[in-house]
Amino acid sequence: MKAVGLFAFSLYLLARASVAGEAPWTTSPESAEVFQGGIVEIRVSGGDMAGVKGFLRNQEIPFFFEEGGSYAALLGVDLEERPGPVGITIKSWSKGGDWKEKLINLRVTEKVFPQENISVPASFDRIDEVTRKRIEREQAQLGRLWTISSPRRLWQGRFLTPVSGGISSPFGLRRIINGSPRSPHGGVDLKAPLGTEIVAANHGQVVLRDEFFFSGKSIVLDHGGGLYTMYFHLADFHVEKDSQVRKGDLIGLAGMTGRVTGPHLHWGVRLNGARVNPFDLLEAVGNRQ
Ligand SMILES: [Zn+2]
Repeated sequence: MKAVGLFAFSLYLLARASVAGEAPWTTSPESAEVFQGGIVEIRVSGGDMAGVKGFLRNQEIPFFFEEGGSYAALLGVDLEERPGPVGITIKSWSKGGDWKEKLINLRVTEKVFPQENISVPASFDRIDEVTRKRIEREQAQLGRLWTISSPRRLWQGRFLTPVSGGISSPFGLRRIINGSPRSPHGGVDLKAPLGTEIVAANHGQVVLRDEFFFSGKSIVLDHGGGLYTMYFHLADFHVEKDSQVRKGDLIGLAGMTGRVTGPHLHWGVRLNGARVNPFDLLEAVGNRQ
């Protein structure tokens, strides 16, 4: 009897596994509108899940297991992402190895960022060949960082603003210098007099501590799962490269190193390679606490 029962149960499992149909789990949201430079949180819950993966085009979006049995991910939309539909494929597999897929329909909507026309003496804007090579090297060094994020989620709870000053230059601002448009502002500039203490926005690892042509003394923290925060134009460093920092730790002092006209903190966020608004990160994470 026992063997028959087991056989019947196996048949039942087999039948269940072979039924092509709705995944036994749900995604939240099922569809969403996100502004350029915005963040959306995706949550997958229900069913008998052993793991979840998300894909934006060919790029994997890491999901983290949360208390209560659901999986969550933060997805960033670059400030220059083309407006229109973008499909996010979510794959989940059960403990029995049964894969299911769902598509989240994301619509990227245009955000109108401010513009600023500036005239500067041509000499201010001139960059010699040696400097140009240096800039290329530094940009490549930064670009490589976005591919080596810790698979572990290091951050916890809300993010902090690294300094309490207001905004001196907004996210996404497009400067038109002597008539030619430059790349949009990839972060937000916060008012910070020389020597102001700058703190880590969340737990993470110092993956860059270097002095660059444009960004001056620069720190990049890896918070895990493809999420990074950046702190530019510092006067001084208070952390070592590769060290672990806790949320609120002093990491450096505000300054005016690099290509700037006065002291401030440039605060940037990269999420799965996308340049997103740091204030959206504060909101996206804050809402779920
Ligand atoms: Zn800036």
